[in-house]
Amino acid sequence: MTLQLKRLLTDLGEKSSYDAASQCCRCGYCEQACPTYVVTGDETRSARGRNQLVRLLMEQKLADPASARDGLDTCLLCGACTAACYAQVATADIVLEGRRMLSAEPHRLARALTWLMAEHRELLGLLLKAANLAKRLGLTALARPVLRLIGLPGLALAEEHVQEAPLTFLHEILRRRPPAADPQWLYFAACGSDFLYPRVGEATVAVLEALRGEGDFMDNGCCGLLAYNYGDAADARAAARRNIARFEAAGGQGPVVGDCSSCVAFLKSYPQLFLSEPDWRKRAERFAAAVRDVPEVLAAAPLPGARLPATTCHDSCRACHGQGLKDEARAAVRRLAGASYRELAESDMCCGGAGAYAFRNPALSDDLVRRKASRIAATGARLAVASGTSCLIQLAQGLKKYYPECEVVHISELAARALAQGDIDGTQAGA
Ligand code: SF4
Ligand code: SF4
Repeated sequence: MTLQLKRLLTDLGEKSSYDAASQCCRCGYCEQACPTYVVTGDETRSARGRNQLVRLLMEQKLADPASARDGLDTCLLCGACTAACYAQVATADIVLEGRRMLSAEPHRLARALTWLMAEHRELLGLLLKAANLAKRLGLTALARPVLRLIGLPGLALAEEHVQEAPLTFLHEILRRRPPAADPQWLYFAACGSDFLYPRVGEATVAVLEALRGEGDFMDNGCCGLLAYNYGDAADARAAARRNIARFEAAGGQGPVVGDCSSCVAFLKSYPQLFLSEPDWRKRAERFAAAVRDVPEVLAAAPLPGARLPATTCHDSCRACHGQGLKDEARAAVRRLAGASYRELAESDMCCGGAGAYAFRNPALSDDLVRRKASRIAATGARLAVASGTSCLIQLAQGLKKYYPECEVVHISELAARALAQGDIDGTQAGA
């Protein structure tokens, strides 16, 4: 079992985890960018506090190491601090190293889910269908025991947050497509699009076909992010190897387009998993260089305007902070919505979704989504756009609770709707 990476690939080069944490000079410049500090005012829930906790853990200077747990477990891993930090301290990766130090065992849910997602997708599909069928029939009380029975009590909690329950998964739909004669793109199905929001994946594929011509479904496995964040780094590495090999078997030509910004950011970070394996590092670098998020594809594409209600754009953290895509999604939504576009205050502040965060830290997560919903309400928007699966789940339930006049859609769905309504000039996107 390999819990820690030990070495990190930071924006300032390759460093040991300790050196990366020690790079924080405690200036506090990032404090107002950190969502958990903004809503709690608690220093141990800020990037500065968290970096300090990890450094003390590594120096074995914390009398009670478990006292670091709250600070580390409440980090959203959103990366807003790194974007605000002049030294670009990689706090999210450092926090994960700290969490792994505190965990003798990787999280059971993460290991079980990674095992199912990576190696037994058909079995996972069958189990989720049983739970989804129960949910559709109004038998939520049955769905939760099914999820608990298969060792996924966390999913049983998450089930309350997920309002959709598909009975046909995206990979089943996409496997029916004939292979392209001259593929111009590969589609990477994130687990969220595959098992929760097949309509998002179908929209992404429709957009890619309209903008770039024919392409293929990569028939990929889980990206490994769940294992990286909550489980075993070795499991994340195994997932990365499988996807890199799949990409190479499919011809090794990009772009590889994914539609969950968290997964895409992680695919782009694969080289960090192989710092001590030069051959795999090179293969990971070639793969990462081919990966694109949907906002990147749309930013440079010819897009028609669409007939839309007042529309605003929430920046998914792993797009704007994780990949540096600060303007791409907004620029695309502005072109699609035209005069209906509304600018959103604090658009790059995390909505509190953050993967499993919403059901691991429900109170903090609710504070954040309430704040996000109030900012969206202030724009008068009836449509909010996001590019991450967690954001879709979180905003769907948060808006229902705090601003039910507004619904959330994925940016691919908005673009697919516009492309179906309007004409484009046939120019190829250049992303
Ligand atoms: S993470 Fe960066 S901005 Fe924040 S306290 Fe440390 S050095 Fe300063
Ligand atoms: S990753 Fe996000 S929540 Fe964690 S310290 Fe940085 S800004 Fe705060």
